[in-house]
Amino acid sequence: MKTKIAILGAGASGFGTYSAFENYNETFDITIFNSPFKKNKISSKELNQNINENNISKYYKELKKISDSEILKKKNNYGSSYNFIGDDFSKIADSNYQYGLTQFWGGILQIFDEASVSKICDKSDNLDRAYISISKLIPITRPSENFKNTLLYELANKPKIEKNNLVNLLESNFTNSSEWVYGTNSVAMQEEKNNDGQCYCLAGCCKLHSIFSTLNYFKKIKKNKIINYDIKKIDFDKKIIFFDTEKKKFDKIFINLGPFNSQRIINQNLELNSNTIKVKDSYSFIFPIIYLGNLPNEKRYFELTNEIINIKNNFKDFATLQIYPPNKHLIRSMLPKYLFSLDRVFYNFLLNRILFVTVFSNDENSIIKEFDANSNIQNDTNKEKYEETVFDKFNEGLNKKNLFIPIKYFHRPITSAHYSGKDFFKKNIFDNKKKEIFKDIVLNDSTLWNYIPSYSPTLSIMAYANMLAKKNFDL
Ligand SMILES: Cc1cc2nc3c(=O)[nH]c(=O)nc-3n(C[C@H](O)[C@H](O)[C@H](O)COP(=O)(O)OP(=O)(O)OC[C@H]3O[C@@H](n4cnc5c(N)ncnc54)[C@H](O)[C@@H]3O)c2cc1C
Repeated sequence: MKTKIAILGAGASGFGTYSAFENYNETFDITIFNSPFKKNKISSKELNQNINENNISKYYKELKKISDSEILKKKNNYGSSYNFIGDDFSKIADSNYQYGLTQFWGGILQIFDEASVSKICDKSDNLDRAYISISKLIPITRPSENFKNTLLYELANKPKIEKNNLVNLLESNFTNSSEWVYGTNSVAMQEEKNNDGQCYCLAGCCKLHSIFSTLNYFKKIKKNKIINYDIKKIDFDKKIIFFDTEKKKFDKIFINLGPFNSQRIINQNLELNSNTIKVKDSYSFIFPIIYLGNLPNEKRYFELTNEIINIKNNFKDFATLQIYPPNKHLIRSMLPKYLFSLDRVFYNFLLNRILFVTVFSNDENSIIKEFDANSNIQNDTNKEKYEETVFDKFNEGLNKKNLFIPIKYFHRPITSAHYSGKDFFKKNIFDNKKKEIFKDIVLNDSTLWNYIPSYSPTLSIMAYANMLAKKNFDL
């Protein structure tokens, strides 16, 4: 008899757990649970099949019709997006969406440094082995030579991304230091599908680039079941999962719903509804850089992160900076359709001279967001000193004679969407090594990390889930 396994969640951690059993079809019968499916809000055939500069204004017109006014401020897939949880002072992105936040990620891949790995793993754990397993299943574009002695460089299996020339220029104006490392980042992206056309990754309708999606991955896997049900409750003793009208029994359950929803379901089950849920959110802010020199010739480029800078302080993780190329989406989301021809004017004179730097904080500067039955509490949000230090370090690295001017205007997004839990289930855990909170109930997403570094976390979320799933069966 096969062991019946339930994986609750089909995002990055659910994929990581599944990947551990990929070659054991004879031993395990796997069911994966995912939120109920919502249709894309833009369903027009024309817009879904072939978006180009001639009809992109129609796409924006559709986007603006969508009643959810926040849609243009967050990443979307053909008009659909995740919700936020919390009030105006403390919000996080809700993972209760088909295939979770992994449906919206930018595919930026980093691996954690040793100090960060030691915060989330036991001494005997081998996270590198898990990074290697995952690298066999996802595309990894080659990072630049500056990352040559990293595992990610070794694991790359696709060519480098096509970068914006202004970002290349910025890179050549950056100086080396023992305090930072910079260069082209890796992306979980397939090679381009054809050679014409433009990248619309930022607008959420790119036909050129396909960033690794667990939806596409699981679609191809026929032998296992994906069930789109809202999980209501789990009976931990009997290992029964309850949905609206059904229930199902398993031998082992892996909980991979993302830090907020994993805690919510577990609290609900233990009738700890009054318990607060704490989520660590890496602190994030954005500043622009203006270029005043002669513009380099432009070719087509990948619209999302083109370059990363990892800053250390006393050799410890301090900040990760992601450099975004010039951004048409910014102006297009504001202009009405009939003024769309103006976007070329704006773009040529202004926007194609602006790069955006998104900063992600280290764990020490992350924000702890607390949600309880009545209110949301967000502590320690004064990050001005941190912002100043990051900005100063960036300025220090930038060659002073160049024509790039960083502007100290800080835009602070609602959330970074890089999450771990905080102090959840510290007591009475059934087996801490296997992260079994009860017998045969494993919590192996980032909920128990209690730590969120500045590095993009998703590759590590996948690897960690893979490692713990294997550990639970000595695979
Ligand atoms: C705009 C954006 C860009 C990002 N870019 C990057 C990036 O470039 N690089 C990077 O490393 N990270 C990035 N991230 C973060 C990344 O998306 C997350 O780290 C990652 O998706 C977390 O995976 P997860 O498995 O923990 O949760 P999720 O991917 O959120 O998956 C949760 C799963 O649980 C299911 N679920 C939840 N509640 C229920 C329920 N009640 N019933 C049934 N199913 C349920 C969901 O359907 C889903 O299948 C980005 C995030 C956002 C929002």
